[in-house]
Amino acid sequence: TEAAKEAAGGKLVMATNAEFPPYEYHDGDAIVGIDAEIAKAIADELGMELEIEDIAFDSIIPEIVSGKADMGLAGMTVTEDRMQSVDFSDTYAKASQKIIVTEDSEIASPDDLKGVIVGVQLGTTGDIYVSDLEADGTTVERYSKGFEAVQALSQGKIDAVVIDGEPAKTFVAETEGLKILEESFTDEEYAIAVKKGNTELLEKINGALKTLKDNGTLDEIVAKYIKA
Ligand code: GLN
Repeated sequence: TEAAKEAAGGKLVMATNAEFPPYEYHDGDAIVGIDAEIAKAIADELGMELEIEDIAFDSIIPEIVSGKADMGLAGMTVTEDRMQSVDFSDTYAKASQKIIVTEDSEIASPDDLKGVIVGVQLGTTGDIYVSDLEADGTTVERYSKGFEAVQALSQGKIDAVVIDGEPAKTFVAETEGLKILEESFTDEEYAIAVKKGNTELLEKINGALKTLKDNGTLDEIVAKYIKA
């Protein structure tokens, strides 16, 4: 039973930002998606009870650093900078930053983002990389939810959105008149963040991840949400 699990292995608190389909999003009261299912499978492997905390994306690392959350799963890209604050597990997905524009846009490649208005989600790698273009005259509009950036684009308030490829597909499918450019802005990898120095938990997570990779569970979870 759940109660027995809690007694045996304790609670595993996951911090996320459930505005990032298909990795984490709301389905009624539940938080579902690839990361939510991977976290549940890891907790099951460890005999622990999963608890999900839905917070702002840029609060996830602070929550882990302060110890309020045990791990962050949020389609979180491994970066050198974040590795100063947290430790990352083995990677579990490849990803890329994609550019969304209106169907009639003249923006056709990453170079064309110079000097235009680009929407991003605050604190994401999209934000970090597009902010480098501010020196080239690019204006960065930062939103707390990626979908808000996509809405601003469809309302003509901004010229492009830079966001991870899978949520880009979901948001473009839900919005009229937008397209995703073929060329990626960057290539990245997702991993699970834990408190720096918590090697005990990190080793447990990596062990569970390996089991889930080897026994096909990880592929099954991904296939459920991403149609090939
Ligand atoms: N992969 C991006 C990052 O790590 C975006 C993640 C997100 O918005 N949930 O910054």
